[in-house]
Amino acid sequence: MKYADYNYERIDPVQVKSKIIEIIDGFNNTKNVKQQKKWMDKTKVIFSDYETYASIAHLNFNKDTKDNNANKENDYYDKIEPSMKEISLNWAKTLLKGKFRKDLENIYGNHFFNLKELELKSFDPKIKKQVEEENKLKNEYTKIIAGARIEFEGNTYNLSGLGPFHTDADRGIRKRSYEARFSFFEKNSEDLDLIYDKLVSLRHKMALQLGYTNYIPLGYAQMGRTDYNHMDVAGYRDQIVENVVPLVSRLHEQKKEILGLDHLYFYDGINYKEGDPKPKGTPDELVSAAQKMYEELSPETGSFFNMMINEELLDLVNREGKMGGGFCTAFPKYKRPYIFSNFNGTDHDVTVLTHEAGHAFQVYSARNQPLIEYYWPTLEAAEIHSMSMEFITWPWMENFFKEDTERFKYLHMVKSISFLPYGACVDHFQHWVYENPEASPNERKSKWGELEKIYLPLRDYDDLDFPKRGGIWQSQLHIYQIPFYYIDYTLAQICAFQFWSKFNQDRATAWKDYHKLCKAGGSCSFIELLKIADLKSPFEPGVLTNVVSEIWEWLSSVDVKKI
Ligand SMILES: [Zn+2]
Repeated sequence: MKYADYNYERIDPVQVKSKIIEIIDGFNNTKNVKQQKKWMDKTKVIFSDYETYASIAHLNFNKDTKDNNANKENDYYDKIEPSMKEISLNWAKTLLKGKFRKDLENIYGNHFFNLKELELKSFDPKIKKQVEEENKLKNEYTKIIAGARIEFEGNTYNLSGLGPFHTDADRGIRKRSYEARFSFFEKNSEDLDLIYDKLVSLRHKMALQLGYTNYIPLGYAQMGRTDYNHMDVAGYRDQIVENVVPLVSRLHEQKKEILGLDHLYFYDGINYKEGDPKPKGTPDELVSAAQKMYEELSPETGSFFNMMINEELLDLVNREGKMGGGFCTAFPKYKRPYIFSNFNGTDHDVTVLTHEAGHAFQVYSARNQPLIEYYWPTLEAAEIHSMSMEFITWPWMENFFKEDTERFKYLHMVKSISFLPYGACVDHFQHWVYENPEASPNERKSKWGELEKIYLPLRDYDDLDFPKRGGIWQSQLHIYQIPFYYIDYTLAQICAFQFWSKFNQDRATAWKDYHKLCKAGGSCSFIELLKIADLKSPFEPGVLTNVVSEIWEWLSSVDVKKI
């Protein structure tokens, strides 16, 4: 069955509610755990239908943000989300109080119940209206960003389309393309400020209504974090400042040498004088190369990727009206994932393809988990599969980059490690924002500037006014859409680096561990999943130092001028 043949319909929350009431009644009146499981299976069908249709509506809207019908369906699913949350909450309460809970824990593990506890802590019907309002604001942001039409050197581009000019070999083009980019943000600055302002105060209000002092613990509960709190994260960020920031500064010095420039500005984002390596070939050729790669990597990835192609579960190329970025979504009813991206001719096309394929392979591998809650892990764990896949596929990079392969690998590693301080900066910023919900848009921007000095001390925007005044974070979708979803990438990166090292030592064992992790899906918490995959926790003292020093050793062994 192809994506286009999937059934799509609107779910009616009123009908769902009455079905769930019936199920709750049945569940509470059973005489044994076997019967309770049967009632659980009934809810599984209901929620899996809901998730599937909501996911289709969301995907179709991202595919074409200007399509009226897609807009309407997406709005519908956003609108019913709070009602569905309320229904799910009642079901969670029933499960937690169930008389055979111990037996169910023996079957499904504790994690499911821990997640249900967090569900109780992160939602209450009294914040229904606010959740609806939050969804509307998030979509307003999406529409502004996706609707960008930027004039540049005689042509019109959206943000993804403008991307390749940011890494052009010609410094003038790079700078002017950033000027064009930021003039778009400048023009929309008031709206972007206002949307964020409303989102922050709305989230703060919801937190107060649920009995929290600010949004931070609510945000953590919504992310399903059961293993660590904001203090652990703050300690981890300090480790990044201590260990990674100095290393990135050394890479910065090295880059000056490679580019032959005595000072680097923000727009000098390339790593080679001739420009960064680009994938060779059309989008179709890239997909064929990926197909060959996954067939050779393992039987599991081979059949998985062929299925993705045959069932038309990929939308990879940038076009007007399409939302930027890349993501992987899934349709539990059909047990299939979907990959969405915006190829624009840069090296990012390949990393986004391997990254999202990592997500998709994970969720596909976990499709036989007994609960839909176990198909995906929490996000910091979910990014391990994707970020590791970017490295696991290194031996096939020649198929994409030909003579530039070694350049690509070096660049990929530099980008991956340089990302850590930026990721920590975004995270620190968000903690500050929600600790200071009264701050004005200007105060937020100046705080961002302050944090940049800690995490990105060598960044120099030259005379690019918008980022200079601290506005650059407004292009970071996560800050608007999924608060606190960012440190996850850095935690996962530390794990992906460990996989990189494991694959260098013994590919067969490393693949076994990776595949085991994929199949485990979301059946355990982050730290428990790390144990399954034989990985060390980034929160453990010393782990980050060791991992990063191994990466540095590899980076120093590359003779950059010869590759
Ligand atoms: Zn990802």
